[in-house]
Amino acid sequence: MIGVTRTIIVKSVKLPRKVFKVFVELEGMYRNMVEQLVMDAVKNDVKSFIRLKAFEYKEMRKLYSKLPSHYVYTACQDASTRAKSFLKLKKLSLPKRNYPEVKKITIWLDDELWKPNGLTLIKIATHKGWIITWLEPHKQYWKYVNRGWKLRSEAKIKLDKKNRQLIIYLTFAKEVKEHKPEGYLPVDVNENNVTILTDGIAYLFETNVEKIVLGYYYKRKEIQERYDKVYGKLRIKKKALKKLKEKKKKADIKWKIANIIVKKAYEKQNAIILENLGKRVANKMIARIKNKQLRHRVFQASFRGIQKAIEEKAKEYGISIIYVNPRNTSKLCPIHNAPITYNKSRVGKCSKGKELWHRDVVACWNLFFKALRGDGSDAPSPSKHNLDVSHVPFGMNATHDPIEINKSLWARWKFLGGIQIYHKPPYHLGTNGY
Ligand SMILES: [Zn+2]
Repeated sequence: MIGVTRTIIVKSVKLPRKVFKVFVELEGMYRNMVEQLVMDAVKNDVKSFIRLKAFEYKEMRKLYSKLPSHYVYTACQDASTRAKSFLKLKKLSLPKRNYPEVKKITIWLDDELWKPNGLTLIKIATHKGWIITWLEPHKQYWKYVNRGWKLRSEAKIKLDKKNRQLIIYLTFAKEVKEHKPEGYLPVDVNENNVTILTDGIAYLFETNVEKIVLGYYYKRKEIQERYDKVYGKLRIKKKALKKLKEKKKKADIKWKIANIIVKKAYEKQNAIILENLGKRVANKMIARIKNKQLRHRVFQASFRGIQKAIEEKAKEYGISIIYVNPRNTSKLCPIHNAPITYNKSRVGKCSKGKELWHRDVVACWNLFFKALRGDGSDAPSPSKHNLDVSHVPFGMNATHDPIEINKSLWARWKFLGGIQIYHKPPYHLGTNGY
């Protein structure tokens, strides 16, 4: 069994002025505590929550005696998390200031500081006693409640001062049974597509991550420069950027692709094979980008981002993931183990068998064989999974082309199972129904 957690955001109903004021005061005290604790933690190089609490508990209790004592615990947790990441950055000498700035405050709650009251009410401990408020549950909230997810004891709240509402971060958890894989589903993530191999057929999902990420970056920069020139730092800029951000979110393709892949793996009871990217940033697309920060962002968004989404989804379905070494995955012919020459195209020729290969299909087959051979970090032995390599189909004389699926098509699909291919592939890889 593996534990999976999800955070859901629910709002409270609009609170009366008097009640909301209590939360504003609470937030103020909590902020002061966190600011003080972060400073002390950084000054004394304390990264652990337990040590920070041991250092500070008495003094904080004295200073904030009106607050329920567990706020000291949660503020210490909050502060030690902030201090830890700041100290990490400091080690890389990235931050310009000596102490981290506590800008945004989210109040951390433990089981002594809040309690659900049925499914639509919660109560929160404050310096003025317990305050009970109604929630505004939504479809997603009910989905988790009804599908057997359990509410965890930790929560966070943020204040929406404009609307006098609490924004409540609830965590749901579920135990998922891990499935024994009965086969493998290799996934090759590229700049512009994600290619998978299932039933001996390669599917290439066009993503154009490069265009999306870079487009977003340059657009954003352009807006910033334009508004800086015309208005200085005005609210209007914020608005324009916010709109752009939302648009980007909508275009966020990684969850859709992760859904398709994981559901396919679930249906087939396959383990998913991913490249172990590690710190491999020396990708062509990324190497082109001079700006270090942007390079990092592109890497995250395109490769790790898609992988992470697949990992998350896979957890939810109890699908295991096998990581294999990405070295030479597209360079060697999976049949002859001989180099493939590409000549600036995505289709290359095997130097031994002279057959043609699509680069991303080669990568998938090689990931598949690497996993079979146990080249992965924790790849199970193939004998356990009734895999018969001799059945792996290879059409010897044709290009091993993937079935290319345009983004406008796949983005609307729920399952690859119900796949409809609008343009017929030139031929089928494999003839024995594998
Ligand atoms: Zn070959």
